[in-house]
Order: sequence, then C-alpha cells, then structure tokens
Amino acid sequence: MNGEAKGEGVKVEIPTYNDVWMDNGVVNLYRILNDVDGVNVNLKADKLEFEITEKARFLKSIKDEIKQKRDSVVFVTEKDDKTGEIRNIKKDFVLLQYGKKVRGKNVLKEKIYSDSEILERLEQIFEKIVGEGSSCILCGRTYLSGVDKLKQAVYPLATKIRSLSGVRTLKEQYTELCPLCYLIGSLEWCDEGIIYRVFPTSHSLVFIPNIYDFKKLNESKSKWIDTVLTGERFSNIRISKGEEGVERTSGEYNTLLCFFEKFLRWICLEEEGGWMTFESVKKEVCRDWTCMEVPWGAVKNIKFENISVADDILGIMYELVKDDKHIYENFVKQLLYLRKTPKGTQIDNAGTYEIREDLSRYFLMDNFSGFSHSLIPRKKSRIIFSKEAREVLEDLIYLWRLKKMGLEKEDLETIRSVGNIVAETSSKSIGLLYRLDKARTPNEFWNSLREISRKMIGLEKPVKAKSLDSLIQLVKEHEGDWEEIRNILVVYSCMYYYIKNFERGEK
Ligand SMILES: [Zn+2]
Repeated sequence: MNGEAKGEGVKVEIPTYNDVWMDNGVVNLYRILNDVDGVNVNLKADKLEFEITEKARFLKSIKDEIKQKRDSVVFVTEKDDKTGEIRNIKKDFVLLQYGKKVRGKNVLKEKIYSDSEILERLEQIFEKIVGEGSSCILCGRTYLSGVDKLKQAVYPLATKIRSLSGVRTLKEQYTELCPLCYLIGSLEWCDEGIIYRVFPTSHSLVFIPNIYDFKKLNESKSKWIDTVLTGERFSNIRISKGEEGVERTSGEYNTLLCFFEKFLRWICLEEEGGWMTFESVKKEVCRDWTCMEVPWGAVKNIKFENISVADDILGIMYELVKDDKHIYENFVKQLLYLRKTPKGTQIDNAGTYEIREDLSRYFLMDNFSGFSHSLIPRKKSRIIFSKEAREVLEDLIYLWRLKKMGLEKEDLETIRSVGNIVAETSSKSIGLLYRLDKARTPNEFWNSLREISRKMIGLEKPVKAKSLDSLIQLVKEHEGDWEEIRNILVVYSCMYYYIKNFERGEK
C-alpha cells in the first residue's frame, strides 16, 4: 500500500439504483460530501463519483458533518412545557432506535449516528468499500466485508412482511449488504429534502421525490429545502415564507396539495422575476412521489404508495395560483365539518380531516365525480364554506371541467341557478339530492330533473324556473357529458344546501 491509508485515492462510483430510498440517499450523500474536506466529489445525472484525497482529514470532517446533520435534521430540540427542560427528540417517523441516554440527552443506537462509535464505523466503511468478496443485495457490487446487515434503519422496506413484494426474495440474504449501501441508506434519515407530516394518533407520512436523474433531483431539492421546508417536529411545510410555524395538513393528498401550491407560489413565481411558463413549470415541479406511511407503535410495517399527478391537474393549480386563487389555502383549508351533538353543533375534527383529505385526493387524482360525491350532506352534519372558498371553487370548476367541455361561464351560471333550486327543494326532502347524485343513466338524470321541476312548485321563495329549462337544453346539447354536468350540479346543490341551512340555523 506504499504507506498510503487504506481507501485513500480510491475512486468510488455509485450509479442510479432505481430505488427511491437509495437514490435520494445518494443525492443526500452528495450534499454531505460537498461540505466535507479531503474528498473530491462530482454528481452526474446517472452517477455519483468521489475520491478520498486525504483520508484522516476526510474522516474527521465527514464525522463532524454527520453529527451536525443528526442534531439538526433527525432530532428536534423542544422545551418541555412542564419542567422547562430542553430536550432533543427524534422525529417520530425516523426508524432509528434510541440508545441509553447520555448525560440526560437522547442518543441513537445506530453506530453511524453514535458519538462514541461513529469514527470506528466510518473507518470500517471506507476500509472495506471495495474488494473481492460477497456481492451486495442492494447494489450488486462486490465488497470485502460488510459492516451491518440489511434492516429498517438502513432501508425502511426491509420488513419481515411476506406480502411486500421484493422483500421475500431478500429474506435469506439480509446479511449481504455492502458498506456503501449501509452508509447511503442509513444517512438518508438526515435528508432535509424529504417532506413529512406526523400524526400523533396513528401514523406518520413521509414523501420522497421520485426523480431518477441525480442532478435534477438535487436541483429540485435545493429549491424547496430553504423556501417551502423547515424542520419542526410534526411537519416541515412552512405556513408563510420565511416565518416560523408549519402547516397542519390532513392526510397524504392534502399534504401534497399544500406542498404543490407553496412550490408554485414561492418558487415558480419568483424564479425569473415573474411567472415561469407552464412548460418550465412542468420541468421544475416534481409530480411523482413515494409516500411512506410509518405507523406509531412498536411494529413498523411500512407502507409505500406511489402518487403521480397529471399535467392537467398541475396546469389547473398553476392557472389558479397565477390568478391569486389558492385551492389549498383558500378552499380546502377553509372547510369545516360540523356535527350536531346533544350539546349543540360542534366542529367535528375527524370529519373535517376527512373532507379536506377527500377533496384533495379527488382533485389530485383527477376524479371529479368522487370530488362532487364527497360533498353530499350526511346525517346531522354539514360543511361550512367561506365566501373565499366558494370563489376558488367556482374557478376550479371552470378550469377543471367547463373549459374542457367547451362550455362558457354563462353555462356555469345556469347550472348554479339550478343548484340553488335543488338546494331549496332538498331542504324539504334531502332524498332528491341523493337521487341526483346516484343517477347512473341519462334517463335517471332526466327523471331527477323532472322531479326537481315538480317540487319547485311548492317552494316558498320564487325561483328562476327558466334556468331549469336552460339546463335541460344544455344537457341535450352536450348529451355525452351529462355526467359531468350532473356532477357540477351536485357540487353547487350541496354548497347552496349548506349555505341555506346554515343561514336558517339548525335543521
Ligand atoms: Zn451495496
């Protein structure tokens, strides 16, 4: 070895894994190495290259960098309300175990994060990084010997659940993990570019961007790390730019919707001193995400779900945000679900959570009939729409449905007027609204419109009967789109139903 430290001068190349955890891990490692001395590092679209030039200096420097990341990203510092004591707490989604406390401070068991063992672990890794021996289960490279086996602290998918595809085949080879994959996988927990939302009752959500081009992944993350994201205990999406405080989003789709909106508002607006074109937005905004669901409790069976948002949906959000209309901020976040209880009408938190999540999901997944159906009134409960929310909803429906169908804003006026009539008649018999929502054939739809027409006669308030005729005409002209028109009618009927019943007090 000519007196050269083992591992010094060795060039390491890490190609794309095509695995969301590991590829994000590679970019995270790049970001770490970039701030470390004694190493040359280069990120390309399809690989990360690095060369350790001064080993002793490198080891000390990377050790310090990892410890700093651990303390600022894996841990959060909190003041205990009762005792006033300052504590460091591991973020709840992180699958690293606590070790025995040291001088009252929480520490992590994993050697790469342990003050007393990190240096030894790093020495092992960079000594055994190359060589002939076993072949690694994750990357396939051969290595001298491993430093640890495959486990959730390194790769969260490594559970013992047989039904999870891919893991079954790994089962017998848990021990064959190369030192480099250990390093990349375990350090991914200190990636400040992933999004999380922690639910103290059941599970945490972690969103990892699915971009297989390392350079692009790194650029995207750099954009949102310091603008949209921060690092509080329960969430890391800021409410306002440059200020403390994080969003308390409802579920996975609501969180993504929130993130998209902030990204568009804060990054696409300011990037070029004005608005980016939609063509550039499509390139800039990551639309493919993996959502990792981490349950609370001792058994951590992780669920992974891939979510992809279509160009059309991104386009609607772009148009809305450009016009200063915010579907998350001014519509979904404003909705409240109320329930009648023996003590009076109260906000129903679970119901509010559910409606916000449902509307976010149906919008992001481009499912308008699910969207309209989720607004249907349920027994002893109602949804509150603010005036602001109604305005955004109107523009949303125009961009999402009408424009596509080739309808004008006046047509929306017609549907809205009939929605008003449906709401008025439904206040007496809600069954009418249910039948409208359930109509499965054009015939059933016609029947429900006829029923509305008959019920109109008994109304106290005079209604614009003409609008019903116009609607019938509209449906005749756009027969292929009858379901779309019905769904829009359902949205307006529900909205007016809530407004009318809210204005009149309890029903
Ligand atoms: Zn490997």
